[in-house]
Amino acid sequence: MDRVLTNINMITLDGDTGYQVINDAMIGIEKDRIAFAGHKEHFDCHGHPDVVDCQGALVTPGLIDCHTHLVFAGNRATEFEQRLNGVPYEEIAKAGGGILSTVKATREASEDTLYRLARQRLQGLKNDGVTTVEIKSGYGLTLDDELKMLRVARRIGEMPDINVSTTLLAAHALPPEYSDDPNSYIQFVCDEIIPAAAQENLADAVDVFCEGIGFSTQQCQQVFRAAQKHGLALKGHTEQLSNLGGSAMAARMGALSVDHIEYLDNEGVAALAACGTVATLLPGAFYFLRENQMPPIDQLRQLNVPMAIATDFNPGTSPIASIRTMMNMACTFFRMTPEECLQGVTTNAAQALGMSEFRGQIREGMQADLAIWNLSHPAELSYRIGVPDLKARVVNGDLFIHQHSER
Ligand code: FE
Repeated sequence: MDRVLTNINMITLDGDTGYQVINDAMIGIEKDRIAFAGHKEHFDCHGHPDVVDCQGALVTPGLIDCHTHLVFAGNRATEFEQRLNGVPYEEIAKAGGGILSTVKATREASEDTLYRLARQRLQGLKNDGVTTVEIKSGYGLTLDDELKMLRVARRIGEMPDINVSTTLLAAHALPPEYSDDPNSYIQFVCDEIIPAAAQENLADAVDVFCEGIGFSTQQCQQVFRAAQKHGLALKGHTEQLSNLGGSAMAARMGALSVDHIEYLDNEGVAALAACGTVATLLPGAFYFLRENQMPPIDQLRQLNVPMAIATDFNPGTSPIASIRTMMNMACTFFRMTPEECLQGVTTNAAQALGMSEFRGQIREGMQADLAIWNLSHPAELSYRIGVPDLKARVVNGDLFIHQHSER
């Protein structure tokens, strides 16, 4: 045993105990794995070199943000301000605003610049106990720029205190070079970008934006077929603004998750249930766009579809680098329970990234990814925003102290 955490109150989320807190627990870590997790009476820590007394801290699995667009350049705050000053959206778009302004800035930025910007945003997530983050491309929309974004995401994953899963989202928006010809762009994504990303091992999954203002269900299916040919997992931005049947299509093709899904109908929910696809809810975008259409939470519950929660951190619709704010929003807007929210950023988020075998729970054999909190009840994680409650994180067995925490 390399490290033993003692005097903790632990929530394992391993399915046997659920949300239940195990008091007076201990966790033993060997290299990067959990070797023991349970009540202290089942374990003897005498003679272990590195015993950390956590002084009654609450310990959860490290939180997982399973949907972000953390890598980009540029700033949409002025656009935000213009809109609030009454400038019509068409005028902003005509002047080069909107997503294409982010595309332009991202294309112009170097890998080093993108890395520095993304690292800073990531700090917000780390301060909220995040130990694993998914990062998408999708602001390059050329072969070189999409690969550049993915290389930056992989480089972030080399930091010792974060795990990164990368997703190629070349089918995010139509690049200006293809403005009259979406089918040719989709062909290019399938024939050039996906094979190159796969060959360089830059992507773990492939994502699409299936929407009236994005790509059709048929075009997204074509992208998914190409992804499968190269052994990449599938994810989708689906049913965010309308119901095109993209979620059901993605689920039937074996997608890990479908994300947003405010407009998902009963048939779509049934497809997720039948195919074991995770429903990822993104309350930050719902909030920022001042949406009214609620995702079908009750139907998802009824059919036991696992629900994940993520930040969707991005410059246009969710500039909020806080997973705990998302947990709170999922409670206030979607009426999810704090228990569902905690599952949504641990076990279910791990499933949305195809990692449930080794992340998202505290049990023997799992990666030692933990969040250690100055909290007495897990509901506080969803209840409170902005108080620095995090004491430390353990990432792959290594301990990272968060200095601002005191009690
Ligand atoms: Fe997104």
